[in-house]
Amino acid sequence: MTWWKEGVRFECQGSGKCCTSHGEYGFVFLTLDDRRIMAKHLGISTSVFTRKYCENKNGVFHLIEDPKNTDCMFLKDKKCSIYEARPTQCRTWPFWPEVMNAKTWKKEVMSFCPGVGKGPLIPAEKIKKTLKEQQRSEDQILAMK
Ligand code: SF4
Repeated sequence: MTWWKEGVRFECQGSGKCCTSHGEYGFVFLTLDDRRIMAKHLGISTSVFTRKYCENKNGVFHLIEDPKNTDCMFLKDKKCSIYEARPTQCRTWPFWPEVMNAKTWKKEVMSFCPGVGKGPLIPAEKIKKTLKEQQRSEDQILAMK
């Protein structure tokens, strides 16, 4: 923690940009809990959800993309249609361990996410908590390999 020790201003602008494919951050990876929560929200079993909406790549589950445009299948009219049950990776954006370094933040996150620099100041303590949550989720996903 250096550049963000005073907090970071961020507020989702509902642009849907982080829900469309953007290079290496294009896949929405899922923990088992993510799949369970999303399935429950949709009123289907976890196994049906997994068969219908997920792909297993090298032992890791991710959401399949809309074949028409590679957007997330749950993005409807630029809004997440399962917002309350969205997976960890979506909830924790943009506070991911791999982007919270000054270079990546400036070059990659600021360049496409319109929520950066808007809204309330997110305090460093909250960012730390979110980073930990995302790291836990990434660890769980890697452990499934
Ligand atoms: S699950 Fe929702 S928040 Fe996550 S990428 Fe899809 S549409 Fe966006």
